[in-house]
Amino acid sequence: MARLQIRQFPCLSDNYGVLARDPESGSVIAIDVPDAAPYLAELAETGWRLTHVLITHHHWDHVQGLVPLKEATGARVIGPGLSRDKISGLDEVVEDGDIFHIAELKVEAISTPGHTLDQISWWFEQAGVIHTGDTLFSLGCGRVFEGDMEMMWASLDKLNRRLPDDAVVYCGHEYTLSNARFALSVDPDNAALKERVAEVERLRAEHMATLPTTMGRERATNPFLRAGDPALAAALGMAGASPAEVFAELRGRKDRF
Ligand SMILES: [Zn+2]
Repeated sequence: MARLQIRQFPCLSDNYGVLARDPESGSVIAIDVPDAAPYLAELAETGWRLTHVLITHHHWDHVQGLVPLKEATGARVIGPGLSRDKISGLDEVVEDGDIFHIAELKVEAISTPGHTLDQISWWFEQAGVIHTGDTLFSLGCGRVFEGDMEMMWASLDKLNRRLPDDAVVYCGHEYTLSNARFALSVDPDNAALKERVAEVERLRAEHMATLPTTMGRERATNPFLRAGDPALAAALGMAGASPAEVFAELRGRKDRF
């Protein structure tokens, strides 16, 4: 199994930058570029040479630093085909299910629309690592802006079905603490959730990252991934409702929380 060396660092107010290095080839991949300066600082500190940039979606806080980072490094930029006209600096675009290799490292583009229509989750199967952009967060999920509730649920369920428990999940934002408070409000008796909330509170009190998380942990604690669980539907007074309906109710409550 190919390993990846990963550096995660804060960008802007609550975004994360992520750099992943394949030690076998020396390839270094940036995922999203909220801001070029912290990336350049990490590259300088590690001595890593950036070769590729993968973009999850077109929002400004994910692409703002792309052009300056590309100019400084000459990295090759790959992003969602749906945003070929929205994102400047793309060298190559992908569609759902596209697989390509960076040296020997396999990269799969899993389309997970809802927050935006173009959203891609980047899956490095050999390393067991995924970056879910603004689709799946720890204990939460992205707001539904461009898609609809059914589309967003289908995307989360796709990740649910596709990823093993030990998949390591990186994402775009440190929103875990506020997500945790909402999750507890709808699922107060979930022991795994209570344990995770305590951990998140401790980490944030020390200004430490709550990410990455794992798919197994999210399946046990994240209400948005559990919209298909009859027990959660019943707790919301929605026994018999479809998972998409339960998801829509959860997302609506979170938006008003
Ligand atoms: Zn976004």
